[in-house]
Amino acid sequence: ADAAPAAAPAAPAGAVSVNVTHRSRPIFPDSDRTKGDLADYYATLAPLMLPFAGNRPVSLVRCPQGRGRRCFFQKHDAGSFGEHVHRVAIRDKAGVSDDYLYVDDADGLVACVQMGGIEFHGWGSSVAAIERPDRMVFDLDPDEGLAFADTRKAAEHLKEQLAELGLTSFPLLSGGKGVHVVVPLRPDADWATVKHFAERFARALATMEPDRFVATMSKSRRAGRIFIDWLRNQRGSTAVMPYSARARSGAPVAAPVSWTELRAIDTAAPWSIADAATLIARAQGPALDGWGVADQGLPAI
Ligand code: ATP
Ligand code: MN
Ligand code: MN
Repeated sequence: ADAAPAAAPAAPAGAVSVNVTHRSRPIFPDSDRTKGDLADYYATLAPLMLPFAGNRPVSLVRCPQGRGRRCFFQKHDAGSFGEHVHRVAIRDKAGVSDDYLYVDDADGLVACVQMGGIEFHGWGSSVAAIERPDRMVFDLDPDEGLAFADTRKAAEHLKEQLAELGLTSFPLLSGGKGVHVVVPLRPDADWATVKHFAERFARALATMEPDRFVATMSKSRRAGRIFIDWLRNQRGSTAVMPYSARARSGAPVAAPVSWTELRAIDTAAPWSIADAATLIARAQGPALDGWGVADQGLPAI
């Protein structure tokens, strides 16, 4: 009898055409996760991630030999990413134009992994409207000694204060130490306006509760406090994108959660790249319905 035809290898979800080399390279040596695992994670998560990370300038944390070796933060096109990673020319303050990267499909995400990319950090504006932010982010950075419960409560406080100003916000676990409070915006205001709003908001909170919050980067003033990093909202700054992997121990990921869920969460990194199925299932459930989406503009303050 004829041998049955060999079964085609199972394709990862979100089919990609990019060839990933060195699939067995241990990118996360402490958790046995390989470059192939990371590529499959992004291929699977692409439909969830791209609405937030696609079509906006991204910087990558690249660790070509894995996270245990040298890593670097790459903002500009190095000319080696191939056809699935796109370029957008953006001028700097001096008027000099430089190419930034963006992706718009699973192939683009995986092409970045092929080039040693682990983390995706995005601008607060899209390539369609570079000068009009569509997202404001408050990155809560707790001082070393603080418990996650302090960060969680701080995030909730920001949410309430933003709500008083008529703004809906959403919590993103960074996959590291903190929580990002994400405020979707209609791309109406310019960078100066959004930055000014974010600064005034952060400074007001720090003034009201100086024992709990600081709004300046200075490490010395942070002791026992939470830095409300509003500087993510400057033109050219980035924040980690939802579902991005982190180049940290255990291959954690940045993950959207609901405000209700956040109350019962005890770490900024509950999920890793091994949890793709869980993350997909969560995104289909009611808790994350509408996460990161709100049709709103900044109030006048
Ligand atoms: P954590 O919760 O552990 O603070 P995080 O992603 O918020 O994780 P931060 O150190 O607070 O990490 O950095 C905030 C953001 O600054 C990052 O998400 C990233 O987009 C940006 N960033 C990080 N490293 C660099 C860098 N070397 N150059 C420019 N921007 C960076
Ligand atoms: Mn942070
Ligand atoms: Mn920060």
